[in-house]
Amino acid sequence: MTALTRDIIIDRARQKYIMPGITNNITEALALYLKNDAPEDEQIPIWIITPEIHQMREILKQIRPRCDECGEELYLKTGAVDPHGVKYRTAWLCKNCEIEYYSDKSPAEWLEELQDEARK
Ligand SMILES: [Zn+2]
Repeated sequence: MTALTRDIIIDRARQKYIMPGITNNITEALALYLKNDAPEDEQIPIWIITPEIHQMREILKQIRPRCDECGEELYLKTGAVDPHGVKYRTAWLCKNCEIEYYSDKSPAEWLEELQDEARK
């Protein structure tokens, strides 16, 4: 992904979700944009984009939750929906068991929690 594309996507997300006051958080605006509006070629993982998510990747190298069932490392997803159609802000996905552990914490809240955990 080029820097140009990234800037354009951030700009579109800002216009669509921050300017009308839907959210004032660029991470959430981007998540909404990518989920609802982005054409297929812009459907890039949200975690590539924001500094917050970059920090998240760094912290996940040190400390990453594991699956209760199989012990594999979990992957953080934003904007998860369970099989009953209930929406969650995030979920931890086990690619091995295809289990999702749903959470109402935002990526920023998870980042804080993982940073706390890493400091112990
Ligand atoms: Zn598992």
